[in-house]
Amino acid sequence: MPIKSRWTAPIPRCSLQQWIFGSACGLVHDYRALIDPERPDTNFLTLDDFRLLSKRVALGLQKAGLKPGDRVLLFSGNSLFVPSVFLGILMAGGIFTGANPTFVPRELAYQLRDSQASFLIVAESAKEIAFEAAREAGLPDDCIFLFCGDTLAPELARSPTPGPGAKGRAGKTRHWTELLAGNLEQAKGWSWQEPSDTTVTTCCLNYSSGTTGVPKGVEISHYSYVANGVGVEFANDLDPDAQEKRKQARALCFLPLYHAYGQTYFVTIYPRLHIPVYIMPSFDFVKVLDYVQRYRITALMCVPPIVVALAKHPLTKKFDLSSVTSIGCGAAPLTREVSEEVEKLFQDRDVFVRQGWGMTETTCTCMSWDPKIRGHSSGVGEMMPNCAARLMALDGKTEITKAGERGELWVTGPTLMRGYWRKPQATADTLSVDSDGTRWLRTGDIAYVEDYRPGGIFHVVDRLKELIKVKGNQVAPAELEGVLLESPDVADAAVVGVTIKGEEVPRAYIVRDPASNATERAIADWMATKVARYKRLKGGVVFTDVIPQNPSGKILRNQLRERAKKEVGDN
Ligand code: AMP
Repeated sequence: MPIKSRWTAPIPRCSLQQWIFGSACGLVHDYRALIDPERPDTNFLTLDDFRLLSKRVALGLQKAGLKPGDRVLLFSGNSLFVPSVFLGILMAGGIFTGANPTFVPRELAYQLRDSQASFLIVAESAKEIAFEAAREAGLPDDCIFLFCGDTLAPELARSPTPGPGAKGRAGKTRHWTELLAGNLEQAKGWSWQEPSDTTVTTCCLNYSSGTTGVPKGVEISHYSYVANGVGVEFANDLDPDAQEKRKQARALCFLPLYHAYGQTYFVTIYPRLHIPVYIMPSFDFVKVLDYVQRYRITALMCVPPIVVALAKHPLTKKFDLSSVTSIGCGAAPLTREVSEEVEKLFQDRDVFVRQGWGMTETTCTCMSWDPKIRGHSSGVGEMMPNCAARLMALDGKTEITKAGERGELWVTGPTLMRGYWRKPQATADTLSVDSDGTRWLRTGDIAYVEDYRPGGIFHVVDRLKELIKVKGNQVAPAELEGVLLESPDVADAAVVGVTIKGEEVPRAYIVRDPASNATERAIADWMATKVARYKRLKGGVVFTDVIPQNPSGKILRNQLRERAKKEVGDN
C-alpha cells in the first residue's frame, strides 16, 4: 500500500508564467524582485520589469522564428536576465533547456543535438565553446544569440532599442538585445497564449541521466511545474508564522538556474510570493556570508557542501547571520551532525536545516519536512502534497510494508515528468504503470520510512542507480565510460563513485590497451581535457585486468564500488 502525503492541494490548470505573475498585463507589483548584489541600487528588475522583459524576449523569439514546442538552449551562468530568458521562452510557447555553464564543447554539442534546439543563447564569456559546439551540432550562426549583462537591468527592460546592439558579433551571430529591439510598446499590451492542456505541454527539458545511461532531456509540463510550486508553497505555509516571515523575507540565489532546484525557488516561487531575490553570478562562499549580513537574507537554499562550509568554515562565525530564519538542503545526502553544527550557529533562535529529497524527474521537491516538526534525524522529510511513495524489494515486484525496511523508492504524483525527450524505451524502463493507470517513477534510490503511514519520515540511505553526485551535480558513469573508450589507450572502462573526505567523486577502472604504455595519471590528465571540471576523475584511475560484468555484459558496479571503498573510500 502506498504511503500517501497527508495533504492534497489544488493545482491550477494554467501555464507556469500565469501562476507566477497572475496576469500578463496590468500592474503586478512594483517591488524589486531580482537584484544584483554588487549594484543593488541601480541594477535590479521590479516584478513588473521582470514580466515585461520576459514578454519582450518572447516576442523577439517569435519574430526570430520560434514555433510552439521549439527548444531554446541557454548556456550561461546566473544573471538578472536568466529568469526573463527562461520565462520568455515559455511565454513564446517554446521549451527551455539549460546547460551547465562549465561544459566543454562536446558536452554542449550533445545537448544541442539531443534537444534539437532551434536557438542557443550563450553568455559572451562562453562564446568560443558555444561556437565550437554549434558547429559540431550543425546549428547555424544566426541561431545563436550572445548574452551579457553589461546594461543596467531597468534600462534594458524599459528601453525601446536596448544596446549594445552589435557588440561581440561573430559571423552572423546576434546579440540577445536584438530580441528586444522595437517591441517595448507591443510587449506592454501583449498576452501570451495559454496552453490548451497544461498537462501535455512541455515547458522544460532539464537534463538528467536518471537511473542509467547518458544524460536525457526530462520533459516537465507546465502542469507539473505548477504542481511543484504549489506543493512547496503549501508545505511552507504549514508554518504558523509563514505570512509574517514572508513580509521580511529576502533570498540569495547562488544555486545554478539551469537546474530545477534553482529554478523552483528563484524563478518561480519567490517572485510569485513577492520575495526579493539577490542573484549571484556564481557561488562564492565568502561573498555569500557578506551578502547575508549586508542584505539581511532570511532564506538559504543549499546543497550539502554549502551546509558543510557553513558548519566548518572559520569565517562563518565572523559574519552576522542573525537574519537567517530558514535553511533548506537537497540534491545529495547530508548528515544530521553537520546540520546540528549549523543549527548551533543560531543557538538563540529556532533555525532548522530542513532537508528535502527530489529528482529532476519529479520536477524538483518530492519530500520535505513540515516546518512545524523539528528534524530529529537525517531524514529527508515526508511526502509533499499530492504525492505518494512505495518501497519495493529489489526484485521490483514485492512491496515492502514494514517500517525501517529498505527498498527501492518509487514515487508518484502530479510533478512526475512526462517522460524522457524522444526516448520511449528509457521512459518505459523508468516509469512503471499500474493497472489503474498510476505512473510510478522508479527512482533508483534506496530508502526506508520510519513509520508506515501518511506523514512517515523517509531516509534515503543508498543508491541502486549508477549516478554519481559531485557537489550536487550529476555525473553519469556511462558518459565518462563513453569518453574513456574514445582513447586509444583504453580497451575497457568502468566508472563508479567513491566517497573521499565526505565528498563523492568519480573513480575509473581501466583495462589498458595492450599496445599502450600510458600511465594512470596520463589517462586522468587526458580526461580532464575532455569533460567539465566537476566530472574529472578525482577519485583516481586504476588499471585492472578485467571489468567485472554479468553474462549479458552489464558492468557489476556494486563489486567495483565495494573495491573502490576498500581502496580509497571513507570507512
Ligand atoms: P537530480 O535529478 O540532479 O536532482 O538528482 C536526484 C538524485 O539526487 C536523487 O535520486 C538522489 O540520488 C539524490 N538526492 C537528492 N536529494 C537527496 C537527499 N536529500 N539525500 C540523498 N540523496 C539525494
